[in-house]
Amino acid sequence: MWDAIKRKRRTRHPEPEEVEEVADIVCDRCKRPMRGGGDGWNAVFDEGYAIGYLCPDCQTAEENAEAEVHEATLDCSAGHVDEDGRVRWPVKGAWNGISTGTHGAMRENKAIHMLVSLEPPELRVAVGPQSDARLSGLFRTETCKKAVHEAMSSKGAQPGTRDLAYLVDSDMDSTDVWVVEDQAMAAGGNDSHKLVVIYSPDIDPHLLDAFAPEYADSMREAIHAQ
Ligand SMILES: [Zn+2]
Repeated sequence: MWDAIKRKRRTRHPEPEEVEEVADIVCDRCKRPMRGGGDGWNAVFDEGYAIGYLCPDCQTAEENAEAEVHEATLDCSAGHVDEDGRVRWPVKGAWNGISTGTHGAMRENKAIHMLVSLEPPELRVAVGPQSDARLSGLFRTETCKKAVHEAMSSKGAQPGTRDLAYLVDSDMDSTDVWVVEDQAMAAGGNDSHKLVVIYSPDIDPHLLDAFAPEYADSMREAIHAQ
């Protein structure tokens, strides 16, 4: 986190003598240099720009509380500088990117159409040639829709005709969301021609947030109907 801010300060204030050597971070009030990992130190922001630093001893109670809220809610190890030069941190446990690939379970079982999991700060979606290509529409953001669509296209997935159903599984020890053909789930092999979205009632809200509102609402309803 602090390295990102140091780099940030360097690029915002490109004075020639500072380019080669990054100055230590010092407290704005007592001028004490920061040692170690910067525990309890607070960056001072102005419209997203890091403009200064406060050591724990110099923070007011209010500033200290603000630092603790940041520490508790933001992932300070994953900060990045946006195109306007502001330092941004993702919310802890949330995802801010997507990766697509495949999964061993899908190679073994062609009734599995998709696996969605959360590995902050990334959403991971596994698809295969058997995936119903319409499933890219499940996702909330255009970036996710496009990434999943492209992954499916590259594997030759075709659009299917099955309806969606939702199954909340309390025994599920996985935190992932599985999309599976129903005959793979149904006792006696009765095929009701549905794709079943299976997930734990304890689904991570950040993962639920990956789905388009209409699908996320149906998933929440299925949890509450239990
Ligand atoms: Zn100080």
